[in-house]
Amino acid sequence: MNAPDSRVDLRTAGLAGPVPGDAPGEDERLSLQEVAHALGFHFARSAAAVPADDEARLRHWLGSGEIDARQAEVLARAVRPGSRDMAEVLGWLGVPARHVRAALARVEASAESLACVMNDFGFLSPEKVARALALQSMRHPYLSPADADALELSEVAQTGLIGAHFPGWVPVAIEGDGAAVRVVVSGLEHMTQARNALFRYRLRFAIASALTVRALFQRFFSSSERQFDEALRQIQQTLRLGAAAGESEASPTALRDCLEALLRHACDVGASDVYLHGTGTVGVIKFKVDGAGQIFRTVPLEVLDRLINKLVHYARVREDSLRGDGLRDGALDPGEGDLALQRDLFVRFSFRVELGHARAGRTAVVRVLDRHSHTVDFDALGFDGTVAARLREYCASASGLVLIAGPTGSGKTTTLYAMLKEIDPEATSIQSIENPVEFRHGLWMQYEMRRTAANEGVEWARWLKGLLRNAPDVILMGEVRDSDTARTLLDGANTGHLVFTTLHTNSAASAIGRLQRLGIDRDELAGALLGVLAQRLVRRLCVHCAVEDERPATRDMLARAGLSGSAVRPRRADPAGCPGCASTGYRGRALVYELLDVGRATRRLIESGAPTSRIDETAIGPARSLLACGLRLVATGVTSIDEVRRIAPVDPAVAEGVA
Ligand SMILES: [Zn+2]
Repeated sequence: MNAPDSRVDLRTAGLAGPVPGDAPGEDERLSLQEVAHALGFHFARSAAAVPADDEARLRHWLGSGEIDARQAEVLARAVRPGSRDMAEVLGWLGVPARHVRAALARVEASAESLACVMNDFGFLSPEKVARALALQSMRHPYLSPADADALELSEVAQTGLIGAHFPGWVPVAIEGDGAAVRVVVSGLEHMTQARNALFRYRLRFAIASALTVRALFQRFFSSSERQFDEALRQIQQTLRLGAAAGESEASPTALRDCLEALLRHACDVGASDVYLHGTGTVGVIKFKVDGAGQIFRTVPLEVLDRLINKLVHYARVREDSLRGDGLRDGALDPGEGDLALQRDLFVRFSFRVELGHARAGRTAVVRVLDRHSHTVDFDALGFDGTVAARLREYCASASGLVLIAGPTGSGKTTTLYAMLKEIDPEATSIQSIENPVEFRHGLWMQYEMRRTAANEGVEWARWLKGLLRNAPDVILMGEVRDSDTARTLLDGANTGHLVFTTLHTNSAASAIGRLQRLGIDRDELAGALLGVLAQRLVRRLCVHCAVEDERPATRDMLARAGLSGSAVRPRRADPAGCPGCASTGYRGRALVYELLDVGRATRRLIESGAPTSRIDETAIGPARSLLACGLRLVATGVTSIDEVRRIAPVDPAVAEGVA
């Protein structure tokens, strides 16, 4: 790589020497480091004494072998001052010219922004769209999700620069003795809004994805919790006044505000579910965040009852259908007229309500679906190099079956979408049957199955057979639960289609037994199966408050798995937590996984009907098991041993020889 002839001439590449044109002010130009960051080039941190000057730095990276000649050329051209068009920037980010052409044609026809079209067509993830905007601007650095995660904005939040509702931008720092504000935006339109709102200040911008900007707002600036308490206070007041006057109705607007603030706050804290139920004396409202429950508020039973009434109303479930038997469900609808919920809440999230009668009275569970959770980049999922490379090879296969296994809430759909987005959506016909379609993709054909109680299995298989006549190249089936669907999927995989689906099993090897119990022929399965990825989610330790884990049992466990030495730094959650993690000690989640890659030996085992344990031992082994993956995350301080214990039974004998 470092042969002299592979060196790029910095002068012809435009880095050295003056360039005419209307360049931004010197202090506002992106540095080479920032450009490299936005392009997604990573450099070894250990590289000591990197020169400060751009040209010298580029020579240094080139000389130390950290970048190759092509990267150097892109970097040199990218930091050259002057205007650049989006197509050029997209080229640097690896978007093929034909995709740029297709997207530009749609921009011309629909007047949407190029960034928006690139995202909808799946040519570029939201994160890369943000990078592209930063590069095109040449003066606004890109803020990555990891950088945003490390920010602590409690002080900025005290300054009152921002109102109660999300304005589309977020202030992250006060600079220059209070005269300037650093603002993070996701698009140029938000810059204008920020300029109008903060006209007293000199503004400096940084660009991040819409997801990152909103996450910062939710962590530090949201007031939905306060709004909930305010609405709750009003409801109780009107109920008290009403009781004195012999009436029993709470103010409908206060109830609406209370429910809206509750939903908003659930979204703000990243809750996947909201539980409302009575205890006999009070009502409990509980959130599930990152897979763990936490009580949000206890409220009087009469308030709980009215909140559930409101949910019944917005979910448009007939009250009488609730009497007598079991559970009912419906999708929450913002409604119309004076009592409508604000629509901005429904742009990113959808809510599914399950209603029921428990021993202690009516219950409601609101499931929160975040459409953005499926816009995650494959690279951001955290697979190690070997597994990532194998999964990418599956995506490049012409046919075969790929399974993602894990219990509910283990992030299977997110992984599935991220993998499918690795497949060129223009050159291949990607078709899916989902229930529901959680993320819309402009170039996929997505069919949505309605939930029907009685003949669900029959319906899935019938739709799938129809889909196979639709000339698909790649098939995504939300889930396989019955033998008819399983057999049809396997037929598809054996007749030139690349098939992706999910299974509810605990380990990769047990997925094979599960399919056989569904009546799948062993030889057919062995012939079609490319691999099974089993996965779980563990909570990430809060970066602000995690403490060192000095418990001998933890060290002992890691040591037995071969993880010891000075690089092993296990941490655990601080029981007190901090404001940054809502006192839970954790924030966000990380993937723990094992990949059963079907090679020749494994194929023979499947054909011969070998037991699950044998397949597990041969194809995966202790060093690459779910547990081993989890323990490695413990050793690097990403998660705690307590989290890994929760998802994988830690049997000392099993942990032997992990590393
Ligand atoms: Zn914390």
